[in-house]
Amino acid sequence: MDMPSETLICSGLVERIGYKNATISYKTNGENLQQTHHIETHSQGLERVVELLLDPKKGVITHTNEIKVVGHRVVHGGNSFSDTTLITTEVKDKIQEYAALAPLHNPGNLEGILVAEEIFPSAKQVAIFDTAFHQTIPEKAKRYAIPTSLYEENGIQVYGFHGTSHQYVSEKAIAYLGKESSKIITIHLGNGCSMTAVKDGKSIDHSLGFTPSNGLIMGTRSGDIDHAIIFHMVNNLGYTLDNVKTLLTNQSGMLGLTGHVDLRDIQAEAENGNKDCQLALSMNAYRIKKYIGAYAAAMNGLDAIVFTAGIGENSSVIRQLVCEDMEVFGLNLGTTKNNKRSGDLREINTTASKVKILVIPTNEELEIAKQAYELVT
Ligand code: AMP
Repeated sequence: MDMPSETLICSGLVERIGYKNATISYKTNGENLQQTHHIETHSQGLERVVELLLDPKKGVITHTNEIKVVGHRVVHGGNSFSDTTLITTEVKDKIQEYAALAPLHNPGNLEGILVAEEIFPSAKQVAIFDTAFHQTIPEKAKRYAIPTSLYEENGIQVYGFHGTSHQYVSEKAIAYLGKESSKIITIHLGNGCSMTAVKDGKSIDHSLGFTPSNGLIMGTRSGDIDHAIIFHMVNNLGYTLDNVKTLLTNQSGMLGLTGHVDLRDIQAEAENGNKDCQLALSMNAYRIKKYIGAYAAAMNGLDAIVFTAGIGENSSVIRQLVCEDMEVFGLNLGTTKNNKRSGDLREINTTASKVKILVIPTNEELEIAKQAYELVT
């Protein structure tokens, strides 16, 4: 990204790290390629990315010192970071410390930082925290009904995540609606899934909590679960606490229900009549519906809902399942509009719908580049 012009020079994605068929997609003006590799770790993925960036034919830089700033999305900043920050040894220690609260993310984020420091030694490294946008959640929504000392002394509260994405798409939605005073629910459905109630541009409630485990059904995470199940598994079913943690974080969600983690595979199986996959899709959508109801109540109204991220932007099936039978909330989906594919902001409700249903491609990279650039200049 060339800043401050916001010109996109090159983009790419490494997906399915740790699985046999990891893919790298890489796009510049002259190239648009997709490669399949065996990529075990985040650092291997980043090393392959840098090989592409430096490639004499496909690359966009001739030396790594041309990169001046590297912006890192970091999931958990706890109460230590409410703003974008330059990465120092102390910042890395904190990210490591918060890995206990975001075991799927902070270790990978830190690995990315360490590899980037090695590969781009002359660049400034900047961290943008997912928790920052949710600092406005009021106490009645961010507190858990447990003894107050655990909040005051141990920081046990809702932190919220996917902040850069919810902030980016809610700002786009407000601009589209053309009114500052608005009630919007942003629905981020990717590998991780979350929803935010955004009132007048501010996050007032959010489905992920103390860690990115709560709320919606995700790729490998269960989302909402009765915590007494954990005690039952440990006390009566022979699980250790570590087993339960691994099970709820890495083996549950859509993977636990279907054996697949990627929604594209689950949709294809469901179409072929696989009952587990059909049920998992219904469960996934049902959970989202319940949060729409909750957040419409929290805001005493609703102007728009926004679908974003890999699933939200691409899965007409999930959007259809979420929006059907929701007339009570003023939602009326336009089937043809929903099925149309496009990479742009689009409205997919019927003209009769009281509430706008929007698909807004998230652009966390741009938001990160903007915030990182602002910090270092
Ligand atoms: P994200 O975390 O936003 O990159 O989203 C990644 C997830 O989006 C993948 O694991 C897939 O489950 C899902 N996804 C990506 N493309 C599609 C698609 N065309 N249809 C359905 N789901 C998709």
